[in-house]
Amino acid sequence: MAEPRRFPPPWTVERAHEDTFAVKDANGIVLATVHCRDDLQKWSFGHSKLSSEEARRIAKAITRIPEFMMQRRGFYMHRAKRCGAKTRSGKPCQSPAMANGRCRMHGGPSPGAPKGNQNAFKHGRHTREAIAHRKAFSLLIQAGRNAVNL
Ligand SMILES: [Zn+2]
Repeated sequence: MAEPRRFPPPWTVERAHEDTFAVKDANGIVLATVHCRDDLQKWSFGHSKLSSEEARRIAKAITRIPEFMMQRRGFYMHRAKRCGAKTRSGKPCQSPAMANGRCRMHGGPSPGAPKGNQNAFKHGRHTREAIAHRKAFSLLIQAGRNAVNL
């Protein structure tokens, strides 16, 4: 089966004609054209043609499609870094690698806690000093209460 065609980013907008904006991929292949007619806009709003500014904005939005597609899991899976661990067949593992360079089967259950992990935050409320300080303060209050017979 033939590889599906790829249209590599960055996609760019070009004013191909006075009344046409063209969206091209990195190889210069025209992916989309957006038509506009500025002269007609002068006479009637809500005309069935776009103004050049509207057409330019829509063409610009089209160029962002690869950016959105890349956020989807697996869109560029074929380009992902490979695990490379030695498999039982002797060939390197072809599964996509995690942050630690190995795949989910060869890299262990987790690549580690994320940076700035708030669950590991140490606030110091339970240090020996803090506990002793609270205890001393509590005794002081108790002593004060006893002194005034509350
Ligand atoms: Zn692997």
